[in-house]
Amino acid sequence: MLTSICGINWGDEGKGRMVDLLSRDFDIVCRYQGGNNAGHTVINERGKFILNLLPSGILREDVVNVLGCGMVIDLKHLCGEIGKLRDAGIKITPENLKISDKAVITMPYNVLQDVMEEDRLTKATGKPYGSTRRGIAPVYADKYMKKAFRMGELLNTELMFRRLPDIVAWKNLTVTAYGYDPVRVDDMIDYFRTYGEPLKQFITDTGVFLNEAHKAGKSIMFEAQLGALRDIDYGIVPYTSSSSTIAAYAPIGAGVPNLKLDKSIGIMKAYSSCVGEGPFACEYFGEQAERLREAGGEYGAATGRPRRVGPFDVVASRYGIRCQGADEIALTKLDVLDGYEEIEICTHYELDGKIIDEFPFTDVLDFCKPVFEKVKGWNCDISGCKKPEDLPKEAIDYIRLLEKLCGCRIKYVSVGAERDACIKMY
Ligand code: GDP
Ligand code: MG
Repeated sequence: MLTSICGINWGDEGKGRMVDLLSRDFDIVCRYQGGNNAGHTVINERGKFILNLLPSGILREDVVNVLGCGMVIDLKHLCGEIGKLRDAGIKITPENLKISDKAVITMPYNVLQDVMEEDRLTKATGKPYGSTRRGIAPVYADKYMKKAFRMGELLNTELMFRRLPDIVAWKNLTVTAYGYDPVRVDDMIDYFRTYGEPLKQFITDTGVFLNEAHKAGKSIMFEAQLGALRDIDYGIVPYTSSSSTIAAYAPIGAGVPNLKLDKSIGIMKAYSSCVGEGPFACEYFGEQAERLREAGGEYGAATGRPRRVGPFDVVASRYGIRCQGADEIALTKLDVLDGYEEIEICTHYELDGKIIDEFPFTDVLDFCKPVFEKVKGWNCDISGCKKPEDLPKEAIDYIRLLEKLCGCRIKYVSVGAERDACIKMY
């Protein structure tokens, strides 16, 4: 059984917490794209964890976790993340963590490039991309330029070190043009030695591992980072991530392009949030925004940045569901709407006096105005609800309305950040 858990919106839908819950029925959890720009918050009986690179299955003792070939891995960050989890009593060994030899290494100069370019954009245009400044776009660019290093190279550094001086010379053409000091080859060798050495034990051909596990009847879950609207092809380019966040890419980025997904579970938030820049048609401002941001605790897990917020966006979510090929939905953070007598939903966009139902091209989005509809809120605390029958009528009505407007069934509804604060609807 191969299942993907993907974001329907702009990210931060609560994928981590849903993977943490649903992974109880899986043998393997695999991240297949992105890097340490992810921030998945998981709260369970073992504590509160923010995971950037490690799959959220790492918190279950009997789950094997895989970092797939579609990922970009900052060696220093991964060493730090493993160290922190070990300090919290989480066991991490080559038995329960496997890193693809084909995954790409994020280099310190990629992080520098990210910072240089965001700063340049800020100065030149006042409009940075809102990157997490963790080197993700530059390292994916290097991958496609065929100038990147891969995890498997750490197993035999001789070839890697032979390639290194020319790659550093090439990179310095860029770095010095921004007015920074050139990168030193010795510092890169130190980086590989200090942070690559401890990771060597985890590096393997994860394609072989996953195929064999699949043949043996093991179940595999793919955990996406970010949401459909941050996908490099289908998202709000250029305010996207630099990798493919969609479910169809999961088998490729995991290392099993020969296998087909059995199920795609879309994680969709009961309202909207968007971290960083880019068009966000349904955005709230002022007091309306502050109220929702506070209620939802909408501050970035990776960066601490206040997230932009708005009501549920039907146009964007329906598009996200289509991109993810979602078979079922987990609707998250419904409890955040507890305090509202009336809840707004963005049902359409308006452009030049015309009503729009299809999510438009990025440039056009800037000119779209949201059309809101109001529905009755439940205005009471639902965080203790365990079964569908516990939910007030207005909450059920809200769920059914979203199902109808988005054309997909909602199987789970989460009403709190803790592992068990989740209702199975059918
Ligand atoms: P991810 O990137 O998709 O994994 O999501 P994040 O972890 O970045 O953001 C989700 C935030 O909402 C985290 O702080 C979670 O602890 C929190 N959260 C998740 N589910 C719920 C829920 O049902 N209710 C509330 N109130 N908070 C939730
Ligand atoms: Mg997040």
